[in-house]
Amino acid sequence: MLDPMDETVKERDFSARPEEEQKDFVSQTWCNHCMEVDLGMVNPKEFESKDRVWIEGECVKCGQSTITEIVEDDEE
Ligand SMILES: [Zn+2]
Repeated sequence: MLDPMDETVKERDFSARPEEEQKDFVSQTWCNHCMEVDLGMVNPKEFESKDRVWIEGECVKCGQSTITEIVEDDEE
């Protein structure tokens, strides 16, 4: 789910990332429902807002939404 307070959310092209990165991001997850790390996610989508970037997908185990925040060095 997206934060309704944030009106500047844009979808990015997750598939534009290098394959290795994609693999890491979809395998290195934290699921709030399962309370477990690295269960993996399916249907990953990448989003960005003014000051953060994240990947949102569905937990492989329970199917609930799972989010991975990406820390990027932004030179702007
Ligand atoms: Zn789960």
